[in-house]
Amino acid sequence: MAFRFLALPAHRLVDFPKTLPDEERLEPDLPPVHEAVERALAGAEFRDLKARDRLRALLQGDRPPALGSPGKGFGASAIFAQPPQDLPALLRLADELEHLARREAGERALVWKCGQCSARYAVPVALVRQVSIRCERCGNPVQLSSQESLGEEALIDPFQGAVNSSRHQLAAFFREAMARGWPVLVAEGGTPAPRGRPSSPAA
Ligand SMILES: [Zn+2]
Repeated sequence: MAFRFLALPAHRLVDFPKTLPDEERLEPDLPPVHEAVERALAGAEFRDLKARDRLRALLQGDRPPALGSPGKGFGASAIFAQPPQDLPALLRLADELEHLARREAGERALVWKCGQCSARYAVPVALVRQVSIRCERCGNPVQLSSQESLGEEALIDPFQGAVNSSRHQLAAFFREAMARGWPVLVAEGGTPAPRGRPSSPAA
């Protein structure tokens, strides 16, 4: 399932099956990988509940969400956070998301390029030794010395990158919505899970 967050002024809210207006709408720029968005929220809490559990309770609980859909392919929306009472909790969640993103930002690595064929080699900073290796692709010797290195970068896979970018986007979005005093809504897209049964977590 895909979560979609949006915020808009309270006076613009409409009931399902109407669609929420596009005017004065705030939405985080989330990657299209919905597993990354779910994963971004894993481990974060909102009002003493795991953020994901709160989302499931809101969208798949006994009382179905009643507000307008954010758009095609999405169901009714529920209020995730309402200012001013949820402001402190939402700001804490934003901090937590950024903390998780920093913690999982990836190990630093030094990077080299083969002078012959441009194959890239990355070695975690802690494991760097002054050695010469033979390039796997062309057999040319590559000096793994820090002087020859192209510099440092984070060893991070694209999925983890999408998770962390979701965290930064959501944190900025939550802060902006609360600064404007707008309620934060959430809706679910994709194939709706059967009601009354927990959906299986994304693999
Ligand atoms: Zn090479």
